Amino acid sequence: MTSSRLARLASLSVCVAFSSAWAVPAPSAPAAAASAPGPAKPSATASSKDAASAAVSAKAEPTTSNKPASTKPAPAKAPPPAPVPTDLPTWCKTIAERLTALPLHQCLNTGLQPGDGRSVRGIPLWFRDIKPASGAPRLRVLVLGGIHGDEMASVNLVFNWLERSVKSNNAPIHWRVVPLVNPDGLLRKPATRTNARGVDLNRNFPTADWATNARSYWISRTGKDPRRYPGPAAMSEPETRWVQRQLEQFKPNLIVSVHAPYGVLDFDGPPPPPDKLGNLYLDQVGIYPGSLGNYGGVVQRVPVVTLELKDARQIAASESAAMWTDLLGWIDRRLINVAQQGSTTKQP
Ligand SMILES: [Zn+2]
Repeated sequence: MTSSRLARLASLSVCVAFSSAWAVPAPSAPAAAASAPGPAKPSATASSKDAASAAVSAKAEPTTSNKPASTKPAPAKAPPPAPVPTDLPTWCKTIAERLTALPLHQCLNTGLQPGDGRSVRGIPLWFRDIKPASGAPRLRVLVLGGIHGDEMASVNLVFNWLERSVKSNNAPIHWRVVPLVNPDGLLRKPATRTNARGVDLNRNFPTADWATNARSYWISRTGKDPRRYPGPAAMSEPETRWVQRQLEQFKPNLIVSVHAPYGVLDFDGPPPPPDKLGNLYLDQVGIYPGSLGNYGGVVQRVPVVTLELKDARQIAASESAAMWTDLLGWIDRRLINVAQQGSTTKQP
C-alpha cells in the first residue's frame, strides 16, 4: 500500500458528513453482543440521554385518567418509541416518510419478501429475487443498499434499480436485491450511519484482519469516531450476519454495494473493474478491516462493486439510469461473456 493511499485512507476515515447524535434507546441484544464492551462514548451518551428522556416521560405522564381540567398548558410529553414496522405496508409507509423520493406505491409494488433476518430492533430485512425473463441464469448478483442508515440516496437508487429489473430482466442474471440493510439507522431521528447498537455494519464483517486490526484501526486512525465503531466482535450484529448468510446461501458471483457521499467507484476482487458507472469513476481507495469490500472481495474472492454516490440525500433519475446501463454493460462484457468463454473452453 502506497503512502499516498494511506494518506487518502486516513482522510476518508475521518470524514464526518452527518450528525452523530445518539437518540434511540439501546434495544434488546443477543447475549453474546450484549455482554461485550461497546464504545465508551456512545454508550455513555445514549445512557444519559435515555435517563433524561425517561425522567421527562415520567414527569409528563398523568397519574390519573380523570384529572380536573386545567387552564395551564399541558406539559410536553416525550414522543412514544417509534413502532417497529414488521409488515410490508407499514414498513413501506415508514420508509417512504423518510425517503421523500420514494413513492409509497413504488415500495409496495416491487414484490419485496421478508428475509429470515431482522435488524436489532426487529425490523425484517426485505429482499426481492428476480430471475431472467427466459432461460437459466448464468450469474447471481447481490445488490445491497442502505448499509449506512444516513445514506438515503443509496436506498433510493436500489429501489430504482429494483423497479427496472422487475420490469425487464432480459439478461441471464438472477438478482437478489436488498434495498435497506440498516433500517434502524435510517429510521432514527436523525438517521445514523450505524445500526441501533451504534455499530458501523461496514466494519463488522469477518475479514481476516478483523481480530488484529479492526479495533486498533478504529482507535488510532479514526480517533474512536462513533460513526465507525466496528462492534465488539466481527459479525456481532444481526444485520451483518444476515448479509453474510446471503453470501453463503445465494452464492453471488458479484456483489454491488451502494453508499454515499464520496463520489467515486470502488472495487475489490478478481476481474478487471468497471472504469465508470454513470458519473462515478473508478478510484480504489483501499480496504478497511471489517468492510464488505474486504470480506467479499478479498476473503470470499467475490468481486464487490462499491458505488459511492456524490450526494447522500438524493440521486437524479437520469444518473440512476446511466449507472444501471453501465453496470449491465460491464457485467455483460466482463462476467457473463467471460464466463461463457471459460465454460466453452472447458468443454471436452
Ligand atoms: Zn456508506
